[in-house]
Amino acid sequence: MAESMKGLHRTHRCTEVSNAEIGKVVTVMGWVQKRRNLGSLIFVDLRDRSGLLQVVFDEPKVGAEGFAKAGTLRNEFVVAVTGTVERRSAAVNENLKTGEIEVIATGLRVLSESETPPFPIEENSLTKEDVRLRYRYLDLRRPDLQRNLMMKSKVAMLLRNFMEKEGFLEIETPMLTKSTPEGARDYLVPSRVHPGSFYALPQSPQLFKQLLMCSGYDRYFQIARCFRDEDLRADRQPEFTQADMELSFVDVDDVIDVNERLLQYVFREAIGVEIPLPIPRMSWQEAMDRYGSDKPDTRFGMELVDVSETVAGCGFGVFAGALENGGSVRGINAVGQGAMPRKKIDKLVEFAKGYGAKGLAYLAVNGDGTYKSSFAKFMTEEELRALVEKMGGKPGDLLLFAADRNKVVWDVLGALRLEIAKELGLLDPNQYNFLWVTEFPLLEWSEEEGRFMAMHHPFTMPMEEDWDKIDSDPGAVRAKAYDIVLNGTELGGGSVRIHQNDIQEKMFEVLGFTKERAHEQFGFLLDAFRYGVPPHAGLAYGLDRMVMLMMKCGSIRDVIAFPKVKDASCLMTDAPGTVEEKQLEELGLQLREGAADAP
Ligand code: ASP
Repeated sequence: MAESMKGLHRTHRCTEVSNAEIGKVVTVMGWVQKRRNLGSLIFVDLRDRSGLLQVVFDEPKVGAEGFAKAGTLRNEFVVAVTGTVERRSAAVNENLKTGEIEVIATGLRVLSESETPPFPIEENSLTKEDVRLRYRYLDLRRPDLQRNLMMKSKVAMLLRNFMEKEGFLEIETPMLTKSTPEGARDYLVPSRVHPGSFYALPQSPQLFKQLLMCSGYDRYFQIARCFRDEDLRADRQPEFTQADMELSFVDVDDVIDVNERLLQYVFREAIGVEIPLPIPRMSWQEAMDRYGSDKPDTRFGMELVDVSETVAGCGFGVFAGALENGGSVRGINAVGQGAMPRKKIDKLVEFAKGYGAKGLAYLAVNGDGTYKSSFAKFMTEEELRALVEKMGGKPGDLLLFAADRNKVVWDVLGALRLEIAKELGLLDPNQYNFLWVTEFPLLEWSEEEGRFMAMHHPFTMPMEEDWDKIDSDPGAVRAKAYDIVLNGTELGGGSVRIHQNDIQEKMFEVLGFTKERAHEQFGFLLDAFRYGVPPHAGLAYGLDRMVMLMMKCGSIRDVIAFPKVKDASCLMTDAPGTVEEKQLEELGLQLREGAADAP
């Protein structure tokens, strides 16, 4: 029995009703969170996106029919209540914004009924996520998700405000486009009009925003959906949102300046966190050497120490072997953890192996100056003393060492440092450590491809002082690229772009593009550069990630209204799905035998 809205007008959201309305008549609408019958009174908690409001049905006030109707209300019924706001007769509920008041109903309409939902609509749900995702429209009623999405909306609004004041123009770029390589696989969309041809969904607006600079728009921004068909990863989404920008006539410092002020404004207005400026900067090399990571969490120390020189020539084959192969030996000092039980240390060794280490050498400094160690027997007393001293090891400390190629050593110790910090509770959730990581390598060697790949993307400007090494030592060329990192998570990144045709062509050559292929794929960009292009640079934030950190969510899915799961499917709509034979025909497509059954 769904009643209509005829003649009804909502005066307030639930928690917009406040003590100031006491004595006034209000009309509120929402979902029944809970009904309690208490003798001659019926209490209902009414919920909308603003929160909860208590409604009281008392027969003399609401009438016999209204009272009977109130008795039939069940969870998730949608109702409209008109009534008078009063101070609560019973105990005040301090947990509620509306905890001191209640509405004494004089009218009730049931706008729609509800079946019993498959799980209770409540904060911090214990219901399994796959069930909640199947009924995402119900899951989205939960206050925690509603708060997250409201925050995302607010952050988007704040970004727009700031950008507008700074002279940025919001300009849309196409969704159906040619591929813009950011290192991931493209999502392809077959063309019906051009059978056999495909659009790619954008991995980012990269090329278009650069073209907008060529066209003189000077400062562009967009809250842009991006698509990347990457391998299954627990907390990745195939589509996600970037807050994307590009600026003309700028260099690194200009981009950093605007973005520091933007971050300060957005974090202050959104969550009341004050970011002191300037945000510290660290070169990529320093970040790797000190933290083993290009997105270091600087909320705690436990920095890496390079002990290669100290152990050079020692009797421990693992150390010696790594050095002989051009690698390094580095360690971290887990201060005060010397008494860690063997079992726990073994777990850390296993953890390290997960990051590519063949093993992990450890040394605990005992109180009496002796050592408990996996490798002490291979080294002399002097060598050990020198090593412990280099590590700043004191009695009671646990020293952990990795010996391998630099990349492995960094990965292992970088991850280990975080793991230990997590276990020891060293990560203060209320501390916000921002950091710029700059001077990334321009190129990265790919074992898989047997060639250099762009570390950021192929349009990133090399540092002037390194360009002469592009042929002799390409791996040593640094780029004008920067990432903004918050507590060990990359919030965003960008670079100054190449605006000289000759450098761009050289870059394609180094990346293994033939001239023909470069022109086939990016001819429009190279052509555009021939008609007067301003120096330009930009950056993009992962908006979902930013809001996730602001709201301290455990998963990116908690800030996306309709997310996909690990295998890129949507549990609610069952996307992706098969299509009719006729649709395939129109597209000139035919499925390979067995393709539909493949996992
Ligand atoms: N397009 C880049 C990315 O998605 C960001 C940028 O360079 O502006 O990472």
